[in-house]
Amino acid sequence: MNRPNIIFIMSDDHAAHAISAYGSRINHTPHLDRLAEEGVRMDAVYCTNSICSPSRATILTGTYSHINGVSSIWTEMDYRVPTFIDALRGVGYRTGMFGKWHLGEQEIAQPRGFDAWKIFPGQGDYIDPEMIDASGHHTVKGYATDIVTDLALDWIDSVGEDPFVAMVHHKAPHRPWIPDEKHRHLYADGSIPEPETLFDDYATRSRAVQGVHMTLADDMGADDLKQEVPEHLRGDENREARVRWKYQIYMRDYLQTVQSIDDNVGRLLDHLDERGLAENTLVVYTSDQGFFLGDHGWFDKRLMFDQSLQMPMLVRWPAEIAAGSRCEGIITNVDFAATFLDVAGLDPDEALPTSQGRSFRALLRGEEVDDWPDAAYYRYWEHDDPIHGAPAHYGIRTADHKLIYYYGAGLGVPGASDAVFEPEWELYDLRADPSEVRNVAGDPAYADVRADLERKLADYQARYGDEPYRGEDTPRPEWGPYDEALFARVAQYVADIRSSS
Ligand code: CA
Repeated sequence: MNRPNIIFIMSDDHAAHAISAYGSRINHTPHLDRLAEEGVRMDAVYCTNSICSPSRATILTGTYSHINGVSSIWTEMDYRVPTFIDALRGVGYRTGMFGKWHLGEQEIAQPRGFDAWKIFPGQGDYIDPEMIDASGHHTVKGYATDIVTDLALDWIDSVGEDPFVAMVHHKAPHRPWIPDEKHRHLYADGSIPEPETLFDDYATRSRAVQGVHMTLADDMGADDLKQEVPEHLRGDENREARVRWKYQIYMRDYLQTVQSIDDNVGRLLDHLDERGLAENTLVVYTSDQGFFLGDHGWFDKRLMFDQSLQMPMLVRWPAEIAAGSRCEGIITNVDFAATFLDVAGLDPDEALPTSQGRSFRALLRGEEVDDWPDAAYYRYWEHDDPIHGAPAHYGIRTADHKLIYYYGAGLGVPGASDAVFEPEWELYDLRADPSEVRNVAGDPAYADVRADLERKLADYQARYGDEPYRGEDTPRPEWGPYDEALFARVAQYVADIRSSS
């Protein structure tokens, strides 16, 4: 059989619990569900750093943030770390990239390795967006999610007989959640069910978590709501009513933008049917990370709680994947690159030796892999962002537990905006407490579990070459433009891998 095509559809901040195939209580996504019905629903795919640009760099390169250097938003991509796109192009794949790129300042960090590309500058706009391609800047009339799909389909139709990889990167449902006019009638006020942890009191949690600035109650403002909070909902005494009011507006707008994604995934799948491309095309739907949809009283992402950590992932490839299957193997976005190379018939270790990931193609087929990792390692670096106040942390998630270490750098403590605070642990028993509201790190009954997980965490840090925090002089990829020290580290990593392979 000819090498399969790959269509990688990635939205921005689309949490799994806003997809009906994942059991959403708040919306219905028939076209995304079609992917699940005709392919596999991946139930344990986790990002390694829950924020936009880092996830994108990790997906392209198969490396953690401390290797590719993209530790936070607006960090420039270092193109000395090769990508799976480069490798596929090298064996004759046609390569296209459409929509949100968001890896550095656009004039200096445009997509490379693509035969065709057209992207939004920065975060992009929803309506009549400006876009950049090889010929310069253009205003494109229409709605962003439709436009990105149109660009991808037009390009796919132009490719001819060669295999292709199309990156279809939606802006939605990222802030500021501007819906298409045709979806503005959906989700009447008061109609959207609230999450059970909307009024989480954060009892038992670390101070780091208690101090984040991501609450609907106090941190979601007029920019996000497109209106001021009415007088009668202000003040501590009206907190509960205010949260309920904000939640309905927030979710209405968010879910309306999701509806356009669902429509457009349907349009893309229909197009593949019409072109006879469905059988030998791997179609992936995912998001760069999850999002808090009022869960724990929050919006945004960044933290290791499941709503933020989990990436939805639906994969259809009729040639190899059983319809309606499920996969519980623990996978991270570091593994995507190796998998796509494997699907294309390449040996990932040879085609992309700098990758830290492993192909999960066998898992897609429903096979058991004896030595598959039983944990995902995570690290969040953007802890000097004063807006969200999310603390520096790393941790590990297994099928049953989650251990998180807030190691003390950065923000998050009320009244101590630049503080280095005391390190804190959180441990969650995901079987007994799937909502992650009861931190048992200090519970003697969990002492052995915690000790095992601390060892596993250290093992995974060693495996991926990430340094544990040992004080303020611990190396850290800075956010913003590259600095010389980081360039040198990245170059050394690439050189070491190449000389040993
Ligand atoms: Ca994102």
